[in-house]
Amino acid sequence: MITSRKSKSIGLFSGGLDSLLATKLVTEQGVQAVALHFRLPFLSPARPTKEDKLRSLAELVGASFVPVDVGDDYLMAVKTPQHGYARNMAPCIDCIVYMLGKAKELAREISADFLFTGEVVGQRSHCQNKRSLKLIEKVAGIDGRLLRPLSAKLLEPTVPELTGLLRRERLLDIKGRGRRRQIRLAHEFGIIDYAAPTGGCLLTDQNYASKVRDAIDNQQLDMQDIGLLQLGRHFRLDSGAKVVVGRNERENRRLEQLVVDGDLVCRPKEVMGPMVILRGRELADSDPETAARICARYSDSAEDREVLVACSGGDVRVKPVSAEELEKWRVRPQVEEEEEKEEDES
Ligand code: SF4
Repeated sequence: MITSRKSKSIGLFSGGLDSLLATKLVTEQGVQAVALHFRLPFLSPARPTKEDKLRSLAELVGASFVPVDVGDDYLMAVKTPQHGYARNMAPCIDCIVYMLGKAKELAREISADFLFTGEVVGQRSHCQNKRSLKLIEKVAGIDGRLLRPLSAKLLEPTVPELTGLLRRERLLDIKGRGRRRQIRLAHEFGIIDYAAPTGGCLLTDQNYASKVRDAIDNQQLDMQDIGLLQLGRHFRLDSGAKVVVGRNERENRRLEQLVVDGDLVCRPKEVMGPMVILRGRELADSDPETAARICARYSDSAEDREVLVACSGGDVRVKPVSAEELEKWRVRPQVEEEEEKEEDES
């Protein structure tokens, strides 16, 4: 007796509208889908990333939800992208190829028939033009087995379409940045609770990107440094060490949680002032005092008064740094942002 097994697929799943619809288009044709959600380190904290919510969204469109942690190998894509940056420091093509590489490994394990994504032809100029979509498929090593259900009819038929696992006529031909068709389709599918598209991950933000660039240039971008990038004012001392200054009590509390072995921490003792972290591979002898003086500068004390600062190495009484010194060390946006603003649900 011949038994037919149900077709299996794996989709990249951000929980945004395009990935929800892509998943639904696959599962409504009777194909099992795994919604693979990557816990990318540069996603904005403002995103609705709560996983129970993402899980229920995946289930709503008929998929099983699988979250995936990323490691230092993901950071290589950010440090040295093989296909350049899309906007500011966002290495979109390498990022997608990375995720597809992991999806491919899982596909082997569970004998999935194909992979799919919510990419839409022409939605983002750098990585979603037809040439880039083809390139991604090729570099990820999944020629013919990568389906983009939302734009499938605009692309060459894939293996699951050619072999009858999926009916091509039930896939779509959406292109461009508009979202009208997706919103209408979501309504038809009864999908109402989805995240609004954002401008991409934090790497697309110019200010954030400048801190990432600075961290890369100073060999200080690893998983434990990433948390600091979202917080505070950043200064790079002549030795290469970094000083991060909390901008308010909320940031001060978060910085406290991010202190690691080897960090020097400062806080004013007699007046209100910020939490300051000094972090570096090799500190110059003057760095601890400079960090204390930066801390004094942002305290509530008068500009040129000495301030008592509690540092990890003991209390010190220091004069605040001058405005000129401070500006010399400040990490500023250096990366030109591309003119265009693109919508991105990643
Ligand atoms: S914007 Fe999206 S695709 Fe581009 S690097 Fe960030 S998470 Fe990856």
